[in-house]
Amino acid sequence: MSKIVNVIRMKCPRCHQGNLFIKRNPYSLKDGLKMPDNCPVCGQDFKIEPGFYIGALWTSFPIVIFLMTLLSVLLLVFVKMQLEWFFVAITIILFSLQPIIIRLGRAIWINIFVDYEENAENK
Ligand SMILES: [Zn+2]
Repeated sequence: MSKIVNVIRMKCPRCHQGNLFIKRNPYSLKDGLKMPDNCPVCGQDFKIEPGFYIGALWTSFPIVIFLMTLLSVLLLVFVKMQLEWFFVAITIILFSLQPIIIRLGRAIWINIFVDYEENAENK
């Protein structure tokens, strides 16, 4: 299975089975971004080092840029939204997508450093 599919499924990069996040719902206010210390299936360390996910800013930022570009084309070119409303809309949309963007950024980030291992759950 490719890394991209694994990122979208939010699974452990090593065994592709354990969940990266404790709750499946990113909008769970309290634990939406909580991750287990280790993969529940293969034991892969999810923390790796202190402050590991600060680096995930570098993977969530491009997602924001991509979404802003997409929304700009959609709202300004196709919907022909007025500029004032466009800024309101884009702020609300990006703000409400924030938990998903942060999760995706972290999932991409850990997938950069940890590779898939066959039968990792048996080691
Ligand atoms: Zn795992």
